[in-house]
Amino acid sequence: MTKLHPQGVGRGSIDAKASRTTLRAGIVGAGISGASCAGVLAAAGWEVDIFDKARGAGGRLSTRRFEEGWATLGSQFISAKRDPFRSQLREWVRQGWLVPVRGKIWKGRATVSWAQAHLQNHYRPLIPPSQLVSNLLGTARLHTQTRVATIRPRTLILESGEIRGEYDCVICSVPSPQAIPMLEALPRLRDRLAESVHYRPVWTFLMRWEGGPDAEVIQFDDDMLNIAVRQAEGAGVWAVHSSHAFAETYLQVSVVEAGTRAASALMGLLGLQWPVEIEAAHLWKLARPSSSAGGFWLSDRENRVALIGDGIAGAGVERAWESGTRFAQALVQAEEELAV
Ligand SMILES: Cc1cc2nc3c(=O)[nH]c(=O)nc-3n(C[C@H](O)[C@H](O)[C@H](O)COP(=O)(O)OP(=O)(O)OC[C@H]3O[C@@H](n4cnc5c(N)ncnc54)[C@H](O)[C@@H]3O)c2cc1C
Repeated sequence: MTKLHPQGVGRGSIDAKASRTTLRAGIVGAGISGASCAGVLAAAGWEVDIFDKARGAGGRLSTRRFEEGWATLGSQFISAKRDPFRSQLREWVRQGWLVPVRGKIWKGRATVSWAQAHLQNHYRPLIPPSQLVSNLLGTARLHTQTRVATIRPRTLILESGEIRGEYDCVICSVPSPQAIPMLEALPRLRDRLAESVHYRPVWTFLMRWEGGPDAEVIQFDDDMLNIAVRQAEGAGVWAVHSSHAFAETYLQVSVVEAGTRAASALMGLLGLQWPVEIEAAHLWKLARPSSSAGGFWLSDRENRVALIGDGIAGAGVERAWESGTRFAQALVQAEEELAV
């Protein structure tokens, strides 16, 4: 895990390089790792292109909008174990974008008992979490609905065939199984990922029901369902996350079948008399890594390509943010070498 350096790079004449003072980065993926990296570089004066295949930024902090408001499909909470992410979260609380999770948090199941639980240092978003991620981008240029197909030294090739090159650094922030097929031309990076990272799936359901415990958050003592979180913006709407084991068992089934299985498990766990309504369902095939490559980033210095995100730095929003932020800070420190 070392700083990038320009050794072995053959690109244009020395005069041409000297005349171009603004450094350029191309980033794949506008989840929290890619967006935090983009924002730090843009704030340091870099010209940043960030590409995402989705309709907006957010990645696994995405939001589903519906009539009464919005709901969170991915991570329900943002938590920080240490600085510098703690300071970032305090700043977001000050802006009115996050609030600490307090109050009615229950753990258990109706047929056994409910116990009050606590979630230390956990915050929930008051604005759509995808907007939190967008706010990190600063002046970076976000290209949405733009899938990157291939990564080459200093170069991104888009699915449309368009070539975006001459970057001083290319950064890939997508989950490792999605990064591997893009890295044919960079076998050292590809092989490091292939040997070390495995992701596990989660089904998320947006559900409504009558009855159940008076709660904001329910942590289930169960093998099928993990957690249910009341959505502040949608009257009576809850996000329910399956366990990894449930999603692995029902990985190939239809949305209707997965929803029916989850609804019947939920009715049992909450002791509900009336059927559960399912508003939406989403299968996260790559929800969380169960292992990681280690460190905050992986880089191929000669080819000016680096990998960031939770597949490298470890599971969770904090690690993903830190991976993007720290790598961008290292690049900014290496600016003099990069610009030569
Ligand atoms: C259901 C669920 C629950 C979770 N719960 C928690 C929790 O309680 N606490 C916690 O800390 N974390 C939790 N997480 C994990 C957390 O959300 C992630 O660790 C974090 O958001 C990862 O951010 P990232 O930037 O590394 O990746 P991502 O958010 O996945 O960003 C990658 C981006 O790359 C884009 N992309 C992929 N391929 C391409 C391509 N070829 N071209 C262009 N763009 C591409 C994607 O569209 C995506 O926007 C949860 C995740 C899920 C899914």
